[in-house]
Amino acid sequence: MAACIFCRIIKGEIPSFKLFESDKVFAFLDIQPLSRGHALVIPKYHGAKLTDIPDDHLTEILPVAKKIAQVTGATDFNVLQNNGRIAHQVVDHVHFHMIPKPNEEEGLGIGWPAQATDMDKLKEYYESIKAKM
Ligand code: 5GP
Ligand code: ZN
Repeated sequence: MAACIFCRIIKGEIPSFKLFESDKVFAFLDIQPLSRGHALVIPKYHGAKLTDIPDDHLTEILPVAKKIAQVTGATDFNVLQNNGRIAHQVVDHVHFHMIPKPNEEEGLGIGWPAQATDMDKLKEYYESIKAKM
């Protein structure tokens, strides 16, 4: 994907503050951080959504995010991965955010619109997706 901004970062055509690189994974600091240490971990395999990435290109992602959380010293943090515009995805190359949450003001702010539970409907839905797993 010649035009993809994250593919260009992987190739070194656009500079980044690189934290880690292997044959399958690249990690770097976010250029507009929500807090100090906000980093992105991406597969080198280009795909827009998580469901576009083969499993063997995903296996290193969480260990790298964990390592970055450790080296930043973050004790509270969020790992976030957005898919689709309405889900706040801006860059169409899969990326996992590691966002330290040092205080109420910095880091990720979350709306959590929990819905009341209808146990019968939940069980019906559960049965329908469990059958496809
Ligand atoms: P999204 O909303 O798609 O999950 O997040 C995209 C992230 O990529 C944003 O946090 C944004 O700051 C970051 N980003 C976009 N362009 C660049 C860039 O050129 N360099 C770096 N380091 N981060 C970028
Ligand atoms: Zn890409």
